Amino acid sequence: MSSTWHILGAGSLGSLWACRLARAGKPVRLILRSPQRLQDYTEAGGLTLVEQERRTSFAIPAETLDAETPIQRLLLACKAYDADKAVASIAHRLAPGAELILLQNGLGSQDEVAARVPRARCIFASSTEGAFREHDWQVNFAGHGFNWLGDPANPLAPTWLDDLAEAGIPHEWTPDILTRLWRKLALNCAINPLTVLYDCRNGGLTGHRCEVATLCAELADLLQRCGQPQAAENLENEVQRVIQATAANYSSMYQDVRNGRRTEIHYLLGHACRSAMRHGQPLPHLERLYRRLVEHLNSHGLPSD
Ligand code: NAP
Repeated sequence: MSSTWHILGAGSLGSLWACRLARAGKPVRLILRSPQRLQDYTEAGGLTLVEQERRTSFAIPAETLDAETPIQRLLLACKAYDADKAVASIAHRLAPGAELILLQNGLGSQDEVAARVPRARCIFASSTEGAFREHDWQVNFAGHGFNWLGDPANPLAPTWLDDLAEAGIPHEWTPDILTRLWRKLALNCAINPLTVLYDCRNGGLTGHRCEVATLCAELADLLQRCGQPQAAENLENEVQRVIQATAANYSSMYQDVRNGRRTEIHYLLGHACRSAMRHGQPLPHLERLYRRLVEHLNSHGLPSD
């Protein structure tokens, strides 16, 4: 029998993974932030997955952060800004040889977590799947996508990838996970902040082509400098392709700001600007974009870290 999937964070992606693993008969336990959240969850009777308007409920067992059970495998499914603190609160429960799968978008939080639990194996993930919470404990599977997984410190694939295959979670093990994460970060930096500042859908950026091109040129330079030449290849073309293909969509950052939610800016544009500074590389347009976005968030009463 495969070992238990502890899943920290029963939000959108955490619930999506939990329901699919449970449906495939894999042992799953949710880790919730407080006794109050555990009580709410218990009263709800489990998680509900909504897929093409079909609702299926799963009575997945749950516990709080301070439960006693040892953790062999942890899917960390909180936001990037919560990752380090969340892992710190369960670090004492990690069994020898424990593995963590880090679902966070952007870069920087993975290194914070790895430094927090140096004896655990940290596997980085980059997901293009889309899910959102309609209510607490109910997740809507909104966009089919893919999951790339990899460990920058060890190219050997873990045996539990079979669990993902049996659960119908589309995935591939890649030695180039950092290239994937950098590429996704660059796409995000070129699109999402501008949609917030111009208050538009992704397609609205067709009216700001020169600005997007200038940002792409700086981002491609940064990727080269960070040892990620593959992530820099044809960046502007792909950014323009994504803008066209998702023209009717609002970016995730736009939606966060619109709904008064904290963004992951620190691990996206913030990470890009900090990396440039570390390399002594001036990127004036990207830095100006960062300052404008920070001002915008602050003026809306939202944190910018
Ligand atoms: P989300 O819906 O906000 O869920 C995050 C969950 O983490 C919440 O349920 C929150 O608990 C929980 N949490 C935070 N700190 C915790 C702690 N200390 N202990 C226990 N639980 C804790 O976020 P999400 O959309 O799933 O995103 C997770 C990550 O995946 C992000 O980095 C995001 O960028 C990335 N991602 C998301 C999607 C998507 O479609 N949603 C797609 C690709 C990548 P409470 O409910 O109690 O607040």
